[in-house]
Amino acid sequence: IKSRGRNGVMVYNTLFTDKVLKRSALMSDLNLAITQDQFEMYYQPIVCLKTDTLLGAEALLRWHHPTRGTVAPGEFIAFAEENNLILELSALVFEKCLEDALRFGPHLHKNKPFTLAINVSSQEFFSEDYAQKVTAKLEDFAIAPSMIELEITETYLMRNPHVAVETIGYLRKSGLHIALDDFGTGYSSLNYLKNLPIDKLKIDQSFVRACLESHEDMAIVEAIVTMAKIFGMKVHAEGVETKEQAAVLKNLGCDVCQGYYYAKPLPFEAFITYMKESL
Ligand code: C2E
Ligand code: CA
Ligand code: CA
Ligand code: CA
Repeated sequence: IKSRGRNGVMVYNTLFTDKVLKRSALMSDLNLAITQDQFEMYYQPIVCLKTDTLLGAEALLRWHHPTRGTVAPGEFIAFAEENNLILELSALVFEKCLEDALRFGPHLHKNKPFTLAINVSSQEFFSEDYAQKVTAKLEDFAIAPSMIELEITETYLMRNPHVAVETIGYLRKSGLHIALDDFGTGYSSLNYLKNLPIDKLKIDQSFVRACLESHEDMAIVEAIVTMAKIFGMKVHAEGVETKEQAAVLKNLGCDVCQGYYYAKPLPFEAFITYMKESL
């Protein structure tokens, strides 16, 4: 090792410093991004499988990094969660979504509901007075709660099932919609699910992707649909990439669909164009 270059002996150290540097660079980049607001929400269409019409959009966060280009949330959401930046980031996301919700207004049909789905992180969901703060913000913006759907995930719900039920109950009573995201990957018991006042299950992409190739995954989708129907919930399949998948999911009784087959997440203006063309 020593013979390799001037600092050959430092190979291990260099790797180590690289990692630390990367972390601290990401930390300062992300802090700066929050102060300078380098974020934008993209919108992915959500489609009704039965009528093939647009029902709404899921807001997905994008970071326009000054040198790295557009960065997807997979690269920084977990980091933000681990480093106490997620609450600030979430506040920014919610604010942006509500601003955009107002911008959607003039493009929407009066008698056709349009729902904007927003992802909620664990720390945000379990933060103090979360539900009250959400409804207060909607009032500030004069946005009907029924236009908003909050996506929470099964995995973190179970960290505090009692608080979760209370928070969801409050949000639902206020008129918001609640979807359980990445369903099938967590551990919620059926008994708990039965009493959860939610509108919809979003079947995790992994099952959707595999359902054409594997009987087991097909069976899982079928079981989720059956259960959701009994509990009075809608079923939403995400990650739909092909016509065949959409057809199979429709046959299995899924209500709602989302994925590259319809459209990728789009910047606001492109989404408006998509919306006009899909009418
Ligand atoms: P998710 O909520 O499960 O979102 C779906 C992800 O799948 C999105 O990735 C979307 O772009 C991608 N996707 C949609 N259709 C397809 C498809 O047909 N094929 C494939 N391969 N992928 C598809 P994205 O935007 O990179 O987001 C990743 C995750 O980051 C999200 O997973 C969500 O957990 C989180 N996230 C995104 N935006 C936000 C946000 O504003 N706040 C919070 N807390 N988390 C967010
Ligand atoms: Ca989601
Ligand atoms: Ca998901
Ligand atoms: Ca996810």
